[in-house]
Amino acid sequence: MKPAAFDYHAPGTADEAVALLAELGEEAKILAGGQSLVPMLALRLAVFDHLVDLRRLDDLRGIESRGDSVWVGAGTTHAAVGRSPEIRRAVPLLHRATPLIGHFQIRNRGTIGGAIAHADAAGEYPVVALTLDAQMHTLSPRGQRTVAAADYFTGMWTTAMEADELLTGITFPVWPGRSGFAIEEFARRAGDFAMAGTSIAVRLDADSRIEKVAVGLFGLAPTPLRAAAIESELIGRPVAEIEAAEVGRSATAALDSIPADIHGSADYRRRVGAVMVARAWTRAVEEASND
Ligand SMILES: Cc1cc2nc3c(=O)[nH]c(=O)nc-3n(C[C@H](O)[C@H](O)[C@H](O)COP(=O)(O)OP(=O)(O)OC[C@H]3O[C@@H](n4cnc5c(N)ncnc54)[C@H](O)[C@@H]3O)c2cc1C
Repeated sequence: MKPAAFDYHAPGTADEAVALLAELGEEAKILAGGQSLVPMLALRLAVFDHLVDLRRLDDLRGIESRGDSVWVGAGTTHAAVGRSPEIRRAVPLLHRATPLIGHFQIRNRGTIGGAIAHADAAGEYPVVALTLDAQMHTLSPRGQRTVAAADYFTGMWTTAMEADELLTGITFPVWPGRSGFAIEEFARRAGDFAMAGTSIAVRLDADSRIEKVAVGLFGLAPTPLRAAAIESELIGRPVAEIEAAEVGRSATAALDSIPADIHGSADYRRRVGAVMVARAWTRAVEEASND
C-alpha cells in the first residue's frame, strides 16, 4: 500500500522544526529514520497531512562525552551508536543493545531519538534508557526541558512529550567502578521485536556486595519497566549468595499486565522473562566481578 498524500517539510534548524510543528498542529508528525513511521503510513495505520523531516538537522546528530555522562543526539542512527568507541567504552549496555534492533538496513536509517520517542515497550533503546536513568532533552515553542527516563514512558507508544515537542538528545550516565552490564532477549526470529527481555546494570563494592543495581524489563508490559522491588532487595547483599534464578523469578513474579497474543500467553512470557533475567544477571555479575 501507499501512504495517503502529505506535504513534506525539511526545516534547517531545530527551532524551525518546532515552529512548524506548532503552526501545523495535530496534523503534523516528525519524520526521523522512518523505520517505524513509514510502515505505519504505508499501511494507513496513521495518516498525517504534514511530515516534518529532521534529516537536515545536523545539531541533532553526534555523540559527546561530558565527564560523568555521554550525550547522544536524537538524530544519531543506531548504526553510528553501534560503531562508536565512546559508547562502547562508557555506555556498554547501549552498545550491546544495538545489534539486537531489527536488521542492519533498519539500523542504518533508524535513529535513537526515533526509537525512544516511538516508545515501543519491546524496544531495546527505551529499556536501556530506563535502566541507566537516562535524561531526555527536548525543545518546543515553550523552550527546552529535560525529562528523566522514569517519567518519560507513560503508556503504550506514549511519552511525556507534547505533539509540538522535539526530542533533541539523550544523556546516559556513566557507571564507574566495579560495574557489569547485560541485555538478554528472546525473539522468534533474529531481528524481530523481543517477546520478553531484560537489561541489567550492577555495581559491586570492594567487599563484593551489591552497591547499585538496575533491572529493566521489556516486552512484559505496555511500557518498559524497572523491577524496583527486587532492586531494593538486592542492595547490600553479598553477590556470591544471590541465585540468578531467584532474581529472575522475583523480577517477573508481580507483573500484572504482560501482553498475550498468538505468539505466546502472558504466563509463557513471564517464564521466558525470568530466564532472560537470570541469564543477564549471571553475565552482568561476572563482568562486574572481573573489574
Ligand atoms: C522490520 C523491522 C524490525 C524492527 N525491529 C526492531 C527491534 O527489534 N527493536 C526496536 O527497538 N525497534 C525495531 N524496529 C523499529 C526501528 O528501530 C526504528 O528505527 C525506530 O523504532 C524508530 O526510529 P526512526 O528514526 O526510524 O523513527 P521514525 O520511524 O521516523 O519515527 C518514529 C516515531 O518517533 C517520532 N520521532 C522520531 N524522531 C523524533 C524526535 N527527534 N523527537 C520527537 N519525536 C520523534 C516520530 O514522529 C514517530 O512517531 C524495527 C523496524 C522494522 C521495520
